Amino acid sequence: MRRVAIIGGGISGLSAAYALEEHRRQTGSALDYTLFESSPQLGGVLRTEKIDGCIVEAGPDSFITEKPWAADLCRSLGLCDQLIGSNDADRKTYILVRGRLIAMPDGLMFMVPTRILPTGLSPLFSWKTKFRMGRELFHPPRAVDGDESVASFVERHYGAEMVDRLADPLLSGVYGGEAASLSVRAVLPRFAEMERSHGSLGRAMLAARQKMSPAKRPVPPLFTSLKDGMQHLAEAVVSHLSPASLLTGALVQAVQPEAGGWVVSAGLQSDHFDAVVLAVPTHSAGRLLAICSPELSAELAAIQYTSSITVGLGFDREVRQSLPPGFGFLVPRSEGKQMLAATFVHNKFPQRAPEDRALLRCFLAGKSAESGWGLSDDQIVGIIRNELQQILGLRAEPLFARVYKWKAAMAQYGVGHLDRLDRIERLRQKLPGLALAGNGYRGIGVPDCVRSGRDAAGAVATS
Ligand SMILES: Cc1cc2nc3c(=O)[nH]c(=O)nc-3n(C[C@H](O)[C@H](O)[C@H](O)COP(=O)(O)OP(=O)(O)OC[C@H]3O[C@@H](n4cnc5c(N)ncnc54)[C@H](O)[C@@H]3O)c2cc1C
Repeated sequence: MRRVAIIGGGISGLSAAYALEEHRRQTGSALDYTLFESSPQLGGVLRTEKIDGCIVEAGPDSFITEKPWAADLCRSLGLCDQLIGSNDADRKTYILVRGRLIAMPDGLMFMVPTRILPTGLSPLFSWKTKFRMGRELFHPPRAVDGDESVASFVERHYGAEMVDRLADPLLSGVYGGEAASLSVRAVLPRFAEMERSHGSLGRAMLAARQKMSPAKRPVPPLFTSLKDGMQHLAEAVVSHLSPASLLTGALVQAVQPEAGGWVVSAGLQSDHFDAVVLAVPTHSAGRLLAICSPELSAELAAIQYTSSITVGLGFDREVRQSLPPGFGFLVPRSEGKQMLAATFVHNKFPQRAPEDRALLRCFLAGKSAESGWGLSDDQIVGIIRNELQQILGLRAEPLFARVYKWKAAMAQYGVGHLDRLDRIERLRQKLPGLALAGNGYRGIGVPDCVRSGRDAAGAVATS
């Protein structure tokens, strides 16, 4: 009997367990797994509450449709009828500029304009930046050797204003991090490739658009989620696993190679396994490997994580009617607010709130989350309400408010991240039977985590 330990019961670890369970069912192989989760609940940051008829997401609210692995997992779990798409007909995002919400112009692909008129007429950018966008098409900047930060990459192409108003807020909303420290090769590999192939990002984007045949098939929604919330995905995975294999409240303190396998120590218990999947944040994986491989441990610990806070607020019909259309807004750091983004959930996923409710989800991360960490939930709600009043003129008392804090849960792929992953992989290969999964490696989003768990399971399923 081959025994596998999975450490971490977030979506990465659950996906690994599900893949092993499927492997066992399909091949009939003698395989056993035990999943160790330190908290009382499985699912990691996938957590949903139903409040006043609203689906309130504490962690992720959806996943990007273009990356298929999470939706594939849902289909494999029989959740096809639960999948919902974002309401893209209403997909407008605003950026706060000098206290005013300005809609992002149509045709912007991240920060690259693909349609001249909407960008040219948009008050989002100064004439200087618009001129840089035009010039970039014909006189792109020289590429640099090696990795660099997203801020430096975007600034070379479009200038500092583009970093402040678009690149940084867009990345804050996904990574909770700053464009000045995130690696362009790890975070925006497609854009780094466009620069390599075309020099100009604008020209690369126009060439890609020309290659696309006129749309015959309907365009899929940008984001996908589940009717009853993201926690439903975790619960559905759990329902397909053997309950005896799932240990909650089980904090693993160390994993240690021994006699051709691995000893996993949790509390006062130690157990022997043939292989181990570490599906925990890299700071945690680093601690677990500190004795058996100090070098690998140090590389893992060097991957930075940031904390985040989400605040869910429910309001009545009047507020709903008074809010602007669209998915919500992003707040550049230069605006000096705590909040980095707010989603109008009732517009993005209308199924998530009754028609007479407005549901807002506000997001703080990095420095703003750290400064709010020691505050009470009431104080955090007070700060958010004050900012919503300044930005939207929203004075109404919320019908409910919930604060969710996530300590060091979002990985930050710093400059040189891909080189670090190569070093990690070389060190890992010296430890047979060890696999790594989670959001610290090749994608922070739910689909990438699902894929990482599945691949890790594939690597350890057979000897
Ligand atoms: C607020 C927020 C919003 C997000 N929004 C989105 C979004 O909209 N779309 C999207 O695609 N992604 C989003 N993400 C990112 C995505 O949700 C996460 O990257 C992903 O869910 C991480 O899954 P995971 O299993 O790798 O890690 P986690 O969910 O962090 O799970 C790791 C688990 O390991 C356990 N653990 C740690 N150490 C040990 C130990 N020593 N022993 C036992 N157990 C241990 C922890 O308790 C935890 O349950 C968001 C993340 C956050 C925090």
